Amino acid sequence: MNIKGNYPFTLLVSALVAIGGAFSTALSQTIDSRVRLNSAGFLPGFPKKATVAAEFTKFWLYEAPNGTTPVYSEGTVSEPFNNTDTRENGLRIADFSDFNTPGRYFLRTNNTAVGKSPEFTIGNDVFTEPFRAAMLGFYLWRCGAAVSAAYNGRSYSHGACHKDDGSLKYYVAGRDDGTGNKDGVGGWHDAGDYNKYTVNSGAAVAFTLKAWEHFWHILENTPLVSVPNSGAIPAYLAEVKWNLDWVRKMQFSDGRVSHKLSTLNFGGEIMPESESATRYYAPWNTMATASFVGQMAIAARIYAPYDGVFAARCLGQARISYSALMDTAFVRHTQAPFLTGEYGGSGDTDKRLWAAAEMWETTGEPGFLEYLESRLPNMDVYITWSNVSTVAALTYLNSRREGRNPAKVERLRADLIGVADELITVAAAHGYARVLGSNSYFWGANGSLAGTAYVFHSAYLQTGDPKYRHAVQDAAAHLLGRNYYGRSFVTGVGHNPPTSPHDRTSTASRTPWPGRLIGGPHSDKNGAPTAITNCASPATCWFDDSRDYWTNEVAINWNAPLAYTLAALMPGADTYPARPYPGQTVETEVSVNHNAKPKKASAGKNGATRVVRARGDGRLDIPAGAKVYGLNGKLIARKLNAGSKMPVINRNGVYLIKIEGLKD
Ligand SMILES: [Zn+2]
Repeated sequence: MNIKGNYPFTLLVSALVAIGGAFSTALSQTIDSRVRLNSAGFLPGFPKKATVAAEFTKFWLYEAPNGTTPVYSEGTVSEPFNNTDTRENGLRIADFSDFNTPGRYFLRTNNTAVGKSPEFTIGNDVFTEPFRAAMLGFYLWRCGAAVSAAYNGRSYSHGACHKDDGSLKYYVAGRDDGTGNKDGVGGWHDAGDYNKYTVNSGAAVAFTLKAWEHFWHILENTPLVSVPNSGAIPAYLAEVKWNLDWVRKMQFSDGRVSHKLSTLNFGGEIMPESESATRYYAPWNTMATASFVGQMAIAARIYAPYDGVFAARCLGQARISYSALMDTAFVRHTQAPFLTGEYGGSGDTDKRLWAAAEMWETTGEPGFLEYLESRLPNMDVYITWSNVSTVAALTYLNSRREGRNPAKVERLRADLIGVADELITVAAAHGYARVLGSNSYFWGANGSLAGTAYVFHSAYLQTGDPKYRHAVQDAAAHLLGRNYYGRSFVTGVGHNPPTSPHDRTSTASRTPWPGRLIGGPHSDKNGAPTAITNCASPATCWFDDSRDYWTNEVAINWNAPLAYTLAALMPGADTYPARPYPGQTVETEVSVNHNAKPKKASAGKNGATRVVRARGDGRLDIPAGAKVYGLNGKLIARKLNAGSKMPVINRNGVYLIKIEGLKD
């Protein structure tokens, strides 16, 4: 009786709570996938933008998780934006670039039908943890040993795997040598499968060691998950060395290098220690041999300060293979009966250039420079396993060795800046600031998108212009949530990351392994499942499905540029001019060509005085007769006549340039 009598009252209270809860949830708790931004966050002083696939005219930022009073309301909203690749009309961009207060926030628009954004952080170190996750991705790819890591409350481990690598049965194409095994244990598993491919390792080694060259002073102080320093070798280099120790084993005594160490067919969705099928060395070819030289040559100089014996062995092996390479035109043997990753190609020119570039930078011997300079490539936007010519070009351009042809250096420098500026223009015309624009969708396009960071940062090292660092953040933003899906493309990082990557450890353990960039949407329909062939546009062709290796696989050659991108945004990455890395040979001063280069003064009233912002440690390119003053009126430097040296400006600051002989 009493119970019955109380029922209506109880129900009424419950109903009120439910309504109140629902109302509050709709306003402040629901993350709306139409609000798309970099969920890792933003750096103070950098542009900050979100793309919203809905109408609105005003927006606010609130403190996460439950702020109700706006902390920022001054942002601008773009005109409606029609995006061609995603076939979306009426995208709007919320710009809060002038909000720089460190903290954790969410964004809400004045369209009450649209929920809030994912939370994001503004701070100097927002990319440090994503970087550590990307490096954990590499550690968990280790082959030949057990791995174990705890990360974000979960643990990930596999047992020692592939301890029998590998058989020589197919090393020589078309013949069964039957000469037993050769030690090939170690390295990183390549991708969603557990095989190991020399040429693809080349792309991963290039990006990870270029990241060291540019950001070593940050990386040497960044602790990694599960990877300690190894004696004198910093943890970061210890992780890369795990792979290099295997790469060294792919060489044969005549200098030729096997293309891959692989099962004949792709294995099942099992943990690596359960894969027992025999793995074989594939026949050698010149692509693998050239890539091997590039990997060994760069390793020789990077590891020299930490492990002289290892460095010397790398250089010795590089020399042997370089000789074998130069004795031979392009060679490519059939890969039958292998059905695993082909990593083929129609030539080896790019890899020969990379080999020569790294050999020259490491040794300074003129023969390598001669080979390289007589074949210098143009800068290419795309750096992939199949084309590392831009890595060769940038090794040459970023070098501080003597002996380069100044005209070739200047041509390449202008080429680099032209390419980087073009990418920035392309990003500005895209609703999600995709630096590869609307047309470049191919297998692993996300990896190439990350690879642009190396182009941008190299442009920054040549000019000191922060717009190139902003472009790196645009690339990172697209990969971490400012995209059509409003999702991070990196497992375990950012908002709503991939849950079912094509990755055997993830599938077999039924949990996505962290820190891995998926290949992303693309239009390659060759043998693709129906879902892809039916896509309205390539940009909308991504499926978070473990069976979909077309768009949802992970790979070391995509993770390496991701690690580079994130390192380029960590505190201290803006060091300019670049600090020499340990062991780098520095024979020439950094040549700084300032963006603030004055144009010829017009005869106008104020035409003879220009205000420029200069960065330290550089020569100012000014016309004869010009004097440079500080803002306090003090004469800093002058150029007497056309034959005089350019004045050197030693401090960052704003200066007045006055040109004698013209009226003020
Ligand atoms: Zn393995």
